[in-house]
Amino acid sequence: MLKGKTAIITGSTSGIGAGIAKSLAEAGCHVVLNGFGNTEEIQALRSSLEKEFGVTVLYNGADMTKPDEIEAMLLDAEKTLGSIDIIVNNAGIQFVAPVDNFPVEKWDAILSINLTSAFHMIRVATPVMKRQKWGRIINIASAHALVASPFKSAYVAAKHGVAGLTKTVALELAEQGITCNAVCPGYVKTPLVEGQIASQAKERGITMEEVVRDVLLGAQPTKKFTTVEDLGALVAFLSSDAAQNITGAIIPADGGWTAH
Ligand code: NAD
Repeated sequence: MLKGKTAIITGSTSGIGAGIAKSLAEAGCHVVLNGFGNTEEIQALRSSLEKEFGVTVLYNGADMTKPDEIEAMLLDAEKTLGSIDIIVNNAGIQFVAPVDNFPVEKWDAILSINLTSAFHMIRVATPVMKRQKWGRIINIASAHALVASPFKSAYVAAKHGVAGLTKTVALELAEQGITCNAVCPGYVKTPLVEGQIASQAKERGITMEEVVRDVLLGAQPTKKFTTVEDLGALVAFLSSDAAQNITGAIIPADGGWTAH
């Protein structure tokens, strides 16, 4: 479906990003993995995708808080793989605390990784996509791009910002063969969510089981987690020619959460 295209997925050493990398590799894309983690595990992921799908898989450890590293990663990908066809802005972190007690450095880090890095990725990739007259920009936002939850001021602000960025970029690039869309997952069982179960329990004064049942799945009418495979398939579809006229869309994958 996407044979020979190149895809750069930020934050793809774990969770949703790794699922998207697998799905795009399966569809025939050469892939650049990005994110932090254990070197051996990253190399194992890289070579397993290459072996399974017969595509080239590179790794670049660019820190999404550093614009010069983001730029170097994209330019290196273009030089090595010959194009920049698909960018998936997925890297993200979370921190949960009341707004009047929210650590300033956590606010800055969340805005930088979850929102500003997408701007830099788009800023640098867009001239290449314009020359190619083809491109796909897919921003992994969140149900929190559409609705809020208490104690997540930075995350909700950043994700609402991603929705605004998505719509603006879609309009600017509408006639150039480049689409820009946001995918808005509900809760997905990844390290990012596992890590907040304990802190939510503390902030709300309830048990961890109650957080999963009443807070996480309580938000989702289907009472099911969204999976990384669901999101990988959606990103592959948005990257395909069948999605050529879908742009500026903010697409929930949240078990009905934001239908409330
Ligand atoms: P995760 O913690 O499993 O993965 C996050 C990835 O981002 C990792 O690869 C990590 O190394 C990378 N990363 C973090 N800081 C980075 C930095 N400074 N530079 C480069 N990479 C960095 O999380 P996940 O659940 O897979 O989340 C992925 C995206 O999906 C995030 O944007 C998150 O907000 C969004 N999301 C997640 C859920 C969920 O329920 N898990 C729901 C909605 C949206």
